[in-house]
Amino acid sequence: TPARARKPDWLRVKAPTSLAFSETRALMRRLKLNTVCEEAACPNIGECWSQKHATVMILGETCTRACAFCNVKTGMPGPVDMSEPAHLAEAAVALGLEHIVITSVDRDDLPDGGAGHFVRVIEAIRAAAPATTIEILTPDFRNKAERAVQMIVEAGPDVYNHNLETVPRLYPTIRPGARYYHSLRLLDRVKALSPRIFTKSGVMVGLGETGQELHQVWDDMRSAGVDFLTVGQYLQPTPRHAKVMEFVTPQTFQAYASVARSKGFLQVAASPLTRSSYHAGRDFAEMQAK
Ligand code: SF4
Ligand code: SF4
Repeated sequence: TPARARKPDWLRVKAPTSLAFSETRALMRRLKLNTVCEEAACPNIGECWSQKHATVMILGETCTRACAFCNVKTGMPGPVDMSEPAHLAEAAVALGLEHIVITSVDRDDLPDGGAGHFVRVIEAIRAAAPATTIEILTPDFRNKAERAVQMIVEAGPDVYNHNLETVPRLYPTIRPGARYYHSLRLLDRVKALSPRIFTKSGVMVGLGETGQELHQVWDDMRSAGVDFLTVGQYLQPTPRHAKVMEFVTPQTFQAYASVARSKGFLQVAASPLTRSSYHAGRDFAEMQAK
């Protein structure tokens, strides 16, 4: 595979131009909020921000890990911004969000791994926008996971997402700071602590995994009680990152989706441009209406 293979047509997206896009960007700047949409150079930013759907990345823009697929910068993060929960709540109100997705960098440097900040953010949004449903996408919290997960579950998000990202065989190269079974146990623990919280996880494809390996991952997720699954094409953010081994065709995504549905997930989103947070609000509302 060439270092940066030409993208197939099904991955082409329109340039962001709408007024709502500019407004979303201005609001994020004014409230000093980082978004994973920008940090990850997400291809869906034009579409999502035009619908005022942005995924805020809390706890700074510097991560203590260095995953081979991720564009977020690695280093020693600065102090936690204690005005962030209020700013995020203000953004949720200003954007009129029915559903908000919040993620973070990994903060292995903090005594609680950043869990306390997730709790403050959830509480601030609940106070300012009680009707907004809250979806969080957390790190694995490494050896602090037990306490961290308990704290966050007690704060009561509607959806708890933690991505497995890839098949276990590829962890050493793609997600070297993480352990597959640790992440799986985290998801299992969320469900055990609070069965009414929906759990969600996702994988990127095109990293060299096989269909059979993916099916096993979905079985593992279901054993851990995971409710929602997302599957999307990995895209290489810069030449320094892991190479794309394959552009998975839309037909293969459809086949993956039907296998995954047969395994009993409440919801499956699988397409080249699917990301954890892509259409998250719409999908959650549809699922609740069922
Ligand atoms: Fe942001 Fe998620 Fe939309 Fe990408 S899919 S632009 S990360 S909200
Ligand atoms: Fe990126 Fe998350 Fe890995 Fe940090 S832990 S490098 S933010 S994927």
